[in-house]
Amino acid sequence: MNKKLTASNGAPISEDNNSITVGERGPLTFDNWQLMEKLAHFNRERIPERIVHARGYGAYGTFTLTKDLSQYTRAKFLVGKGKTTKVFARFSTVAGGQDSSDYVRDVRGFALKFYTEEGNWDMVGNNTPVFFIRDPQKFPDFVHSQKKHPQTNLPNPAAHYEFWASNPQSMHQITILMSDRGIPFSLRHINGYSSHTLSLWNDKGERYWVKWHFKTNQGIKTLTDQEAAKQPVNGMQADLVQAIDEGNFPNWTVKLQIMPEKDAETYGINPFDLTKVWPHTDYPLIEIGTLALNKNVENYFAETEQAAFSPANLVPGTGVSPDRVLQARLFAYGDAHRYRVGANHGFLPVNAPQCPVHHYQRDGLMAGGCPVHHGGSNPQTKEVNFYPNDKTHEGAPAPDASVKEPPLQISDATIDRFDSSNDDNYTQAGNLYRMMKDDQKEQLTNNIAGGLSQATKSVQKRMIAHFQKADKAYGNQVEAKLK
Ligand code: NDP
Repeated sequence: MNKKLTASNGAPISEDNNSITVGERGPLTFDNWQLMEKLAHFNRERIPERIVHARGYGAYGTFTLTKDLSQYTRAKFLVGKGKTTKVFARFSTVAGGQDSSDYVRDVRGFALKFYTEEGNWDMVGNNTPVFFIRDPQKFPDFVHSQKKHPQTNLPNPAAHYEFWASNPQSMHQITILMSDRGIPFSLRHINGYSSHTLSLWNDKGERYWVKWHFKTNQGIKTLTDQEAAKQPVNGMQADLVQAIDEGNFPNWTVKLQIMPEKDAETYGINPFDLTKVWPHTDYPLIEIGTLALNKNVENYFAETEQAAFSPANLVPGTGVSPDRVLQARLFAYGDAHRYRVGANHGFLPVNAPQCPVHHYQRDGLMAGGCPVHHGGSNPQTKEVNFYPNDKTHEGAPAPDASVKEPPLQISDATIDRFDSSNDDNYTQAGNLYRMMKDDQKEQLTNNIAGGLSQATKSVQKRMIAHFQKADKAYGNQVEAKLK
């Protein structure tokens, strides 16, 4: 027997094909509550699209720790070799909208939510170890320059390069984006990076600066622009869903670069500059675990679309760093979720911690589904809706001083606006170019010349000078191709 079709109040309904009308040829009547409800809900099926990372692909998986990290951290998911933690991953393209192609030349988002026993720890990374800017003040302008033209709604490569010509701090990331790695073959064939410098701290109050690397075990595999143009727009989504459904679980080896806190003061490279890597010879990769994705989402909207990652989702033993872009994201990510999904986005199943949550936040849109998360002030259960209160000795939620992060000493404490626009924009872009084989250099400079040819002569001239500063041959190659 079929399940009974009901209205949203649960009551069975007699039919769902014909609205109520005045006679066979007359208008609708006002008591069409069934129709009204159906249309009204339909009007509300979408929430605002993310401005960046709109087109996403989610899946669940498991992180397995293969090296005990208690020397560096008290984070429970990083202590005890063999420990496993459930993870939700969301990959994405960055600049395009929900309905853009999977195969654009773009950075790919690589966001992970670890449901640890002491709360959710999120790593909101990318498939590139660096980013275009080192100061968040530039972020909205940068994104505007990469989006479609505001009048024609068409792709606007001239604007990409116009922004970059005035912001050579993007040189390193441009070199990665325009290289063969700019269009992945699939999401299974990309590396993931925290990109930001994050931190770990242990029970002794020692802090370590840390960069996370997720190295694909499927191997790096990429497409040229010509190959990408032949792919179906949804191909990467289909590839990921199919691989997981077939039990061909994509997996990554997880590695860390670890820098003792004090090293940051003397290291020649600013370790908190998001446009720079730490060369592996200075800080070698230490293997610490594996990540395997093994379950597709059941509802794309509920899970992938409403997934709310934030670098502010930290657990004891983990922390952030003075990286300015990261600091701005601590605010901006939560703010975006509060706007898109609401103040209580954290209670949705995909976002909810899988450990008890006790706090004194109350109410807001869509509150109340879960008494554990959103209690009232019930004397029987010793609940109370403010802190400090007189019930803490009877078990009401109270802070635990033992999870206090060690203090951070900042030696140069002048408060000002420091111009960082010329903080060596070229060395590492040049290092990457010099590392490439001849055919990779060809691809890189072809890709650059393709977009740059659409920019003004002034922008072309400034960009060639930037490429030449990274490596003379790099700039000359771009210049020759433009001619
Ligand atoms: P290494 O030779 O030790 O490492 C080079 C790294 O570059 C490898 O991790 C490799 O990734 C990666 N790589 C190769 N081609 C590309 C590409 N087209 N786009 C992005 N990454 C690529 O060198 P260093 O550590 O001294 O760094 C040299 C340059 O390598 C840097 O300036 C940076 O551009 C790039 N790089 C460095 C990383 C780091 O954390 N040190 C991380 C990623 C890139 P894989 O192992 O997956 O092949």
